[in-house]
Amino acid sequence: MAYIDPHIHMVSRTTDDYRHMAAAGCVAITEPAFWAGFDRGSPEGFRDYFRQLTEVEPKRAAAHGIAHFCWLCINPKEAEDVGFAREVMALIPEFLDRPNVLGIGEIGLNKNSRNELEVLQAQIDIARRHDRLILVHTPHLEDKLKGTRLTMDALRDAGVDPGRVLIDHVEEHTVGEVLDRGFWAGMTLYPDSKCTPQRAVDIIECWGSERIWINSAGDWGHSDPLSVPKCHVEMRRRGHLQALVDRISLHNPTAFLGQSARFRLPG
Ligand SMILES: [Zn+2]
Repeated sequence: MAYIDPHIHMVSRTTDDYRHMAAAGCVAITEPAFWAGFDRGSPEGFRDYFRQLTEVEPKRAAAHGIAHFCWLCINPKEAEDVGFAREVMALIPEFLDRPNVLGIGEIGLNKNSRNELEVLQAQIDIARRHDRLILVHTPHLEDKLKGTRLTMDALRDAGVDPGRVLIDHVEEHTVGEVLDRGFWAGMTLYPDSKCTPQRAVDIIECWGSERIWINSAGDWGHSDPLSVPKCHVEMRRRGHLQALVDRISLHNPTAFLGQSARFRLPG
């Protein structure tokens, strides 16, 4: 059966990963811009990356029957140098009208620093001015709750409709506040950090299935591009119906992403 992986970094994955995801039923992915594992040497490095996300990766995905969409930004890990970040942000508008670009992401905070917050606010402003969806990265571990709240406050202060924002990497201690404030919530499934498939199903059982999705966030680190279908196995093992699986991994992503006229499933 068909599913969407709404957060995965395919530039870091092999062609075999595409093959396996397609065989498992993946019909569409969305790929946020993120940290490459090293800081780019110049803003022009981001121009090449945005070309990869908008020109190269859609073709790789299409070869496996998978629709590819993306999000553009400078990630919080490279946002400490505000002057550098401003040069990168100046590149974004020329790519925003490309056909697979859904919005701005994954923006957010990493260490919750003042400079990161300034760059976050500037990128929220780009999304607001161009009326685009937003995908938010939240910090890890001890910084997560504070960073999630700071980000939600920045979005509120900018007058952004929370229904057009997905807050990703939620965990047990952040999911309630994210949903209560009207945002969409994403659970990132990692083999040994963030959320395991078991914890994700626990969270769905506690918080319900409205405005929530799961994703693999597969990247260049230890991660599993098949963690979404593996989480479906855990849901079925616990006796959940296929309708719930479809809601989490097909209907909810389609409802959120479909707020952009560019989002369309293949076929
Ligand atoms: Zn990511």
